[in-house]
Amino acid sequence: MNHETLLKLAFEAMDNAYAPYSHYHVGACVLTKDGKTFIGANIENASFGATNCGERSAVFAAYSHGYRKADIEAIAIVTDGDRVAAPCGICRQVLSELIDAKAPIILSNGKETVIESVESLLPMRFTSEDLSE
Ligand SMILES: [Zn+2]
Repeated sequence: MNHETLLKLAFEAMDNAYAPYSHYHVGACVLTKDGKTFIGANIENASFGATNCGERSAVFAAYSHGYRKADIEAIAIVTDGDRVAAPCGICRQVLSELIDAKAPIILSNGKETVIESVESLLPMRFTSEDLSE
C-alpha cells in the first residue's frame, strides 16, 4: 500500500474525530506488514486528561487485534490544521514503545506531507531498557 492510500484512510478516520472542545481533528492509520490497516481518531473529553489522540487510538487498535511492533510497517497521522503537526509528547513516548524506531510516520495536513520516525521525533527516549539493571 502506498503512502497516498494510507493518508486517504487517515483522512477518512479524521471525519470520525470527536473534538467538541478543540475543534482540531486528527485521523491516523496504522499499516501492518501483512497489509491490514487500523484507523484511529482523536476522542476528546470534558475532563481533558481523558482525551485520547488519534495516533494512539490507531496503534492501540492494531495492538488490540494482536499486532505488535515487528508487525507494523508505517503510520499516517493527519490533521485539518494550517500546518503539518507532529505527534504530541505523550504520543511520541507511546509510539516509541509500540512501533519500530525507523518505521515511517507520515504526517500531513492535506497540503504538505512530511515523513518522520520515532528515531527523528524522539532521539533520546526512555525505554524498557532503562528499567533493567
Ligand atoms: Zn498525542
